[in-house]
Amino acid sequence: MAQIDARLRAAMRPSAAALEPYDPHFTPVEVNLSANENTYGMPQAVHDKVVEALAAVATNRYPRAMSDDLRRAIADWHGVDPSQVIVGNGGDELLFNLFLAFGGSMGRLVEATPDFSVYRLYAELVETPVVSVPRDPVTFSPNVEALVEAARMATLVVVTSPNNPTGDLFPLDGVRALCEACPGVVLVDEAYAEFADPGTSAEPLLATCPNLAVLHTFSKAFSLAAGRVGYVLADPSVVGALSAVRQPYSVNSFSQAAALVAAKNREAFVPTIEAIRRDREPLRQRLAALPGVTAWPSQANFLCVRVPDAHRAWERLRDEHSILVRDFSSTPGLEGCLRITVGRPEENDRVVEALARILQA
Ligand SMILES: *Cc1c(COP(=O)(O)O)cnc(C)c1O
Repeated sequence: MAQIDARLRAAMRPSAAALEPYDPHFTPVEVNLSANENTYGMPQAVHDKVVEALAAVATNRYPRAMSDDLRRAIADWHGVDPSQVIVGNGGDELLFNLFLAFGGSMGRLVEATPDFSVYRLYAELVETPVVSVPRDPVTFSPNVEALVEAARMATLVVVTSPNNPTGDLFPLDGVRALCEACPGVVLVDEAYAEFADPGTSAEPLLATCPNLAVLHTFSKAFSLAAGRVGYVLADPSVVGALSAVRQPYSVNSFSQAAALVAAKNREAFVPTIEAIRRDREPLRQRLAALPGVTAWPSQANFLCVRVPDAHRAWERLRDEHSILVRDFSSTPGLEGCLRITVGRPEENDRVVEALARILQA
């Protein structure tokens, strides 16, 4: 995909020249279950309020640099002080800022693979040595003991809960042990926390673990992937470090306005979140009943499934059934695996029926 002329490539920072651009393999299809969006979309009443808020934005003025109104609303929502909140241009910007601040050639990342591929991408871009502690190849459970051991030498530990793409939670006593062991920052990426069982978030540990950071996003449960807004909850000194390296106006005024409406109207998203939670396990069981399929339990809005001849199945879903899911079959540790977003009931029916046809042949 990268068409970079050799002479120009020689002038690039080696860590950048070595990278392949992130390619989500998007293709227009009728049923897109590939990116873990909330496929119900925003409730109409909230959408109307977003449109109204967008219309009121003063386009000639720079945005509030620290998203003050949104920051205050997020702080009230999570019961923390505004100084413990930083908003970013998607969770991805905050992840990148974390690597700018705590990565680099003198730093060290510890992670539990397979996990979100963006961590390694950013680590490599800023030349951060990476220690990957593999999950159990059958259950995908993280090796907490080995992670804690590795964390002693880390400047940054990232764990994902629920994990993308395996769907499992990271145990809270493990988070506490990581925070005690790590001289740097421990990030718990909770991009899918709204879909998980109550009481599973690491947020309550913020009160006792000053090096803990918790990442959230408006992209998944809150139907605002288009707006690119995420936030980190952490000690004010971690927020300070992330503020120091950020681009001054990274979160534009439209996105701030839209996310503020979503935050204030968060109760309106509960019905679709509950529907997705309710449909998740029945969908898993229907997929697991197909010939040769393994489907892991999930606490997120997606399922990790292992299917025979997975890459071919992925292609046939796309080309013969106009259904897009995510192909992880060439990722180490995820051989044969696809990730399927839990969508609306009719979308879930279509993916089960299509996979049944593909696999019976
Ligand atoms: C989607 C996702 C994010 C952040 O997404 P943004 O759209 O950048 O907010 C972060 N971590 C994980 C694991 C994700 O899947």
